[in-house]
Amino acid sequence: MTEPGAGSDLRGMKASARRDGDDWILNGTKHFISHADIADFSIVFMATGEEDTPRGVKKKITAFFVDKGTPGFTIRDGYRNVSHRGYTNAVLEFDDCRLPSSAVLGEVDKGFEVANTWLGATRLQVAATCLGRAERALQHSVEYAAERKQFGQQIGKFQGVSFKLADMATELKAANLLTWEAGWKFDQGTVTESDMSMAKLKATEMLAMVADEAIQIHGGMGLMDELPLERIWRDARVERIWEGTSEIQRHIISREMLRPLGG
Ligand SMILES: Cc1cc2nc3c(=O)[nH]c(=O)nc-3n(C[C@H](O)[C@H](O)[C@H](O)COP(=O)(O)OP(=O)(O)OC[C@H]3O[C@@H](n4cnc5c(N)ncnc54)[C@H](O)[C@@H]3O)c2cc1C
Repeated sequence: MTEPGAGSDLRGMKASARRDGDDWILNGTKHFISHADIADFSIVFMATGEEDTPRGVKKKITAFFVDKGTPGFTIRDGYRNVSHRGYTNAVLEFDDCRLPSSAVLGEVDKGFEVANTWLGATRLQVAATCLGRAERALQHSVEYAAERKQFGQQIGKFQGVSFKLADMATELKAANLLTWEAGWKFDQGTVTESDMSMAKLKATEMLAMVADEAIQIHGGMGLMDELPLERIWRDARVERIWEGTSEIQRHIISREMLRPLGG
């Protein structure tokens, strides 16, 4: 989905597909596309027209399957990323890439419906992986606070350290409950976009805080790669950005409250 000029604002995308007889011709560039370099095919979202909406003219979007090796479809290496260093991202270029109509995923102009079948669930996956990493960082921190001695006593006896542990555990539990509740509602078929956004927002922001405090509790050793904390801290950074930034999650949550009131 993402393009150099269109990230959060998906409908601002410039890459487009136009009909040519029974075929489609794709042009444009996507970037930050996870693992496209090793995938046999990509699912790509293209602008296929415009429509009037209550908030002005917006692009209509269609999803396409594109096999690796299709003429006019090039996959280039993406950027080096501070988080998840084993996780590659790619740039996809479409230059008069011709696809048959059978390559359309879902219905023409209904790409958002296609994306929405998995976007919420992937937000819950992001939340869930944050919980696991925060649990690990907290566990290391509790053990270290009980072991490490300074000024003749365990550092966990200093309120400056023990209160951090309390806050970390409380935030973790709150994120855990939000994520489990959203997952349970997902299974019941009653989940809302806001439920999934709250879980993603809370879990990703909680991990940022827990990872940072875990390093603080470990002092200098926290930054060394002898321990998993520097990696948890680095990897945590992207979680507030991909699958919709924290600001976009807040937008979704507040929109669900305001829209029924005409806001
Ligand atoms: C490692 C990595 C892998 C990725 N993998 C994929 C992938 O496989 N497929 C894919 O399609 N995308 C992928 N993305 C893209 C990711 O979803 C986008 O980076 C994300 O949606 C944000 O878009 P942007 O980076 O263009 O930032 P922008 O949208 O330009 O945002 C910049 C800043 O402005 C803020 N902002 C924007 N709009 C608003 C608003 N309305 N209200 C308040 N604040 C706002 C944002 O929150 C952010 O702080 C990946 C990104 C990364 C980093």
